Amino acid sequence: MTLTGKRALVTGASRGIGAAIAKALAAEGADVAITYERSADAAAKIVRDIEALGRRAVALQADSADAAAVSASVEQTVAELGGLDILVNNAGILRLSAVESMALDDIDATLNVNVRAPIVASKAAIPHLGKGGRIISIGSFFADRVPGGAGLSVYALSKSALTAFTKGLARELGPRDITVNVVQPGSIDTDMNPVQGPFHDTLRSLTALGRYGTVEDIGNMVAFLAGPKAQYITGATLTVDGGANA
Ligand code: NDP
Repeated sequence: MTLTGKRALVTGASRGIGAAIAKALAAEGADVAITYERSADAAAKIVRDIEALGRRAVALQADSADAAAVSASVEQTVAELGGLDILVNNAGILRLSAVESMALDDIDATLNVNVRAPIVASKAAIPHLGKGGRIISIGSFFADRVPGGAGLSVYALSKSALTAFTKGLARELGPRDITVNVVQPGSIDTDMNPVQGPFHDTLRSLTALGRYGTVEDIGNMVAFLAGPKAQYITGATLTVDGGANA
């Protein structure tokens, strides 16, 4: 176990990739706080799954679009778990629209949840992180290549913003021996992008491996980055996309 004694916060972890990240960190020995927006029952189930691994867990309702709630969730994590070593900025939303017809509310929501929240959470977390601390944000392979016709422009922008933010923050926190990285999933089977969904055939055909990834594929990468064997990886973008952007 590589994360024994570590305390983690994973945003947006009641379902999908975030839930798998939370469980992967717990499987390596970390105590874990998760946030969610609406799915209280699903979040409670993830807490029980983590407790079954013998770790402490807490679920916090915190809308990532609300900066005060994001900051408060960091402080609540510190209070509940006794500190913070690993922040995973995972919560994200996908609002598909051509720019020409995109509602201002959808633009604001995308920027607030996918970009501002990781900044605000990092800002709140930094004072608590010690040597060996970790900030890991979940981007997207669409940050590097944007398929046409799907209305992905603003979503892709929000994810590419994380790569520059990560590089800058890695510079800021490097002297304190805190690493900062982005994991860019490709097509992963979740409620956001289900294999039964309308984009499955197109997205699957982009991959070198000929299939969608699993939430565990991303959880495993994040657990590795959180651990001591990743101590020299910082400011990096790790793409886990089955070769879709190869
Ligand atoms: P899902 O839609 O399946 O799950 C989203 C999770 O985030 C849920 O736990 C949800 O909570 C939470 N969440 C959503 N909005 C908010 C909010 N405003 N405040 C707090 N929590 C929120 O998404 P995925 O698991 O597929 O995606 C996770 C991350 O991975 C996102 O950042 C996404 O952009 C990224 N990603 C996903 C890919 C994919 O193919 N699935 C590909 C590339 C990147 P609740 O249950 O309460 O709604």
